[in-house]
Amino acid sequence: MAELIDAVSALARCEQLVVACDMDGTIAEFIHDPADVVVNAESVTALCRLAAMPATLAAVVSGRPYLDLAAILRRSGIEGTDRLILVGGHGVEIEGPPQLTPAQRSLVATITEQVPAALAPWPAIIAEHKVTGISVHSRALTEEQAQAAEDRLRGLLADAAWSQGVFVQRGVRMFEVLVLEPNKGAAVEHLRGRFASPVAGVFYAGDDLTDETVFSRLVAGDVGVHIGPKPTAAPFRIADTTALAGVLTTLAQQRQPG
Ligand SMILES: [Mg+2]
Repeated sequence: MAELIDAVSALARCEQLVVACDMDGTIAEFIHDPADVVVNAESVTALCRLAAMPATLAAVVSGRPYLDLAAILRRSGIEGTDRLILVGGHGVEIEGPPQLTPAQRSLVATITEQVPAALAPWPAIIAEHKVTGISVHSRALTEEQAQAAEDRLRGLLADAAWSQGVFVQRGVRMFEVLVLEPNKGAAVEHLRGRFASPVAGVFYAGDDLTDETVFSRLVAGDVGVHIGPKPTAAPFRIADTTALAGVLTTLAQQRQPG
């Protein structure tokens, strides 16, 4: 933890800084029904403080749809969430829902019909409809049931003619079928690129497989923090969302001008 705090203190002095966090399992507790999510007030307050500072961007980068992120943060009642940059759909919805071609919209309609039909034997699965496709959450299933459901889905995608143009993404107890390629790492690099030279520093925290696309792109001086015990390319690891709240508060305090 001391090494992480040292790295955060050094990063706080960067001329230009991007601070980005995943939502579920990172700045919000990972819970059974994604609709019941409540953000960690300390983490979001720290992000909003950072967003108000000069040469500092603060972002939430999540698999959730952009509009969902905006609604959750508004509902939190925390002041200043309108300053946060919201990136939904694992990176494809930067500050707004994506624009799809007619062919992509038609493919979304097919996915929306076919995927839930294939998963009908597991009614506890929660389907989340997105502009770009569908997410299926198997949080309420046993390991074995979740594996069986995923196998069924993989079979469907291997056989169906329409599945040629789709992208499949796995997350924590989650499987997505989408018409745009999701990549959180590309989205965070896009945010870094909003600053001209010198290159901005990046702080990124996440708990999910999809966050590894960010960690694998970080460079010397950046700080990447994985939350939880899973294998990761992140240079730092912490136990839970409460510990992350402390780290974000430290980053905000250290960057505070004056
Ligand atoms: Mg997560």
